[in-house]
Amino acid sequence: MDRNAPFEVVLINPYELGRQPFALAEPAAWLKREGCAVSCLDLSLQKLDPEILRHAGLVALYVGMHTATRIAMQALPRIRELAPKAHICVYGLYAPMNEALLRGLGVGTVLGGEVEPALLSLVRRLREPAAATTQREPVISLEKIRFEVPDRSGLPKLSSYAHLVLPDGSTRVVGFAEGSRGCKHLCRHCPVVPVYQGIFRIVPAEVVMQDIRQQVTEGARHISFGDPDFFNGPTHGIKLARALHQAFPDVTFDATIKIQHLIDHAELLPELRRCGCVFITSAVEAVDDEILRILDKNHTSLDFDRAVALTRAAGIALAPTFVAFTPWTTLDGYIALLERLLELQLVESVPPVQLTIRLLVPAGSYLLKLPGFKEKLKVFDSGMLGYPWDHADPRVDRMQQEITAWVARSEQDGVARRDVFAGIWRMAHEAAGRLAPELGGNLGSPIPRLSEPWYCCAEPTDQQLQAF
Ligand code: SF4
Repeated sequence: MDRNAPFEVVLINPYELGRQPFALAEPAAWLKREGCAVSCLDLSLQKLDPEILRHAGLVALYVGMHTATRIAMQALPRIRELAPKAHICVYGLYAPMNEALLRGLGVGTVLGGEVEPALLSLVRRLREPAAATTQREPVISLEKIRFEVPDRSGLPKLSSYAHLVLPDGSTRVVGFAEGSRGCKHLCRHCPVVPVYQGIFRIVPAEVVMQDIRQQVTEGARHISFGDPDFFNGPTHGIKLARALHQAFPDVTFDATIKIQHLIDHAELLPELRRCGCVFITSAVEAVDDEILRILDKNHTSLDFDRAVALTRAAGIALAPTFVAFTPWTTLDGYIALLERLLELQLVESVPPVQLTIRLLVPAGSYLLKLPGFKEKLKVFDSGMLGYPWDHADPRVDRMQQEITAWVARSEQDGVARRDVFAGIWRMAHEAAGRLAPELGGNLGSPIPRLSEPWYCCAEPTDQQLQAF
C-alpha cells in the first residue's frame, strides 16, 4: 500500500428516519482531519456505488436503530463483493448488541458509544504495512471526546431528507443536529441503555451552532435535535435553544424530552417556545402504571396528563410515542390507551404507526434482567434481531396484526389520521367483544410534524432493500 496515498474510507448510513445523519458527518470530519479520502453513502437516498466502494480500505456502516441494522445485515454480502479490499466496521448503538452476528457476517470491527477515536485508531492500524486485522479498539467506549464540526459535504442535500409539515400543509427544509449523545436514564426497553449505561455526553454549544449554521446556509428553516433527551442537561438544552434563536430568529426546532423532564423543568418550557420550539416528542410508551413500572420509565400515567397540560400551556405541541403492544398489554388496556388519546385530544398528534408498535427485545436489552422474563421469550431470531414473544392472550396478537395491516394500508392510501384512528377504535372494540362507542367530540388539531414519523423498529421495506 502507498503510505502517501489518501486512505479511502466509505461511511454508509442504511437508514435514520429520513435524517441527514450526524453519525456520518461527525466521523467524516475526524477522518478527513486524519488525511483520509472519505465518501458517504446514505442508502435511504442512494444506492451502493461500485465505483466508490472498489478502492475502499475501510467501509464503516452506522447502525443507530433496529431497522438500519437489519438493512445493514442484508447489505453486507453485497458490500463485501463490491469492496473486496476493505476492512468492514459496523458502529452505532446496535453494533455492540449484535457483535457476534456481525462478526459472523465478516465484520472485523464493532464499535459503540463515542466511536470517533476508535475509528481513527482503526484507520491507523489498517495503514500499517502488515495491517493487524484483529480489533484492538474497545467495543464500547464512553470516553469524553473533542467533537469536531460535522462535515456534511459528502451527504445528499438537506432538501432531499424528511421535512417539517405544518398544520396548514406548508413545509420547511429540516436540519438535523445533536447536542448530546447517550442518556442518564435506564429505561429497561431502551437501546441507548446497554451501550451508554446511564451516561450522556455533551456536544459543545459552539460545535452544535456551527453545525446548525452550515445547515441553515443549505436551506434549513427548522432544526430537529436528535438527542435521546434534550433535557438530560437542561442548562445545555436551553443554551442551545437560546443560541439558535439569537442567531436565526425565524428558524423553528423540535426536540425529544421525557415526561419526567417536562414536569421537572416545566419552568423552561415557555422559554423553549419563545426560542422557536414547535413540538416535543416524548416517549410516553404506555398509560398503564404497571407497564410503566416494568419499563422503569420513571413516570406515571397521570404524569402524562400533566406533561400534556404543561406543554399546551407553553404553546408547544406534544407528540407522544408508545410501545402499544407488550406482553402485559390487555385488550381493555389497549382500549384505555385509545380512550386516553381521545380525552387528551391527541388523536391528530399521534402517527397511527405508534399504535401498532410491539415491544422489541434485542440482545443485551435490560428487559432480560427482569426475573423470569427471558423464560417467556422464544429463542433469539437473528433475522428480526430480537427475541420473539407471543402474548398469553392470542386475541391481543391477532388484534395487533390486524391493526398493523390496517395502518399500513391506510398510509399507502393517504388516509387521514383521524380516519385511521376510527378504524383502530372499531377493531380494538371488536377484538374485545365490545360495541365501539361513537367517536364524535374533539379529536385534537393537526400539529407540526416531520414527514417521516419517529419509530425505530420497522421491517425494512422493499424500497430500502433495493439500494443494493
Ligand atoms: S427511553 Fe429516553 S429517557 Fe429512557 S433511557 Fe432511553 S433515551 Fe433515556
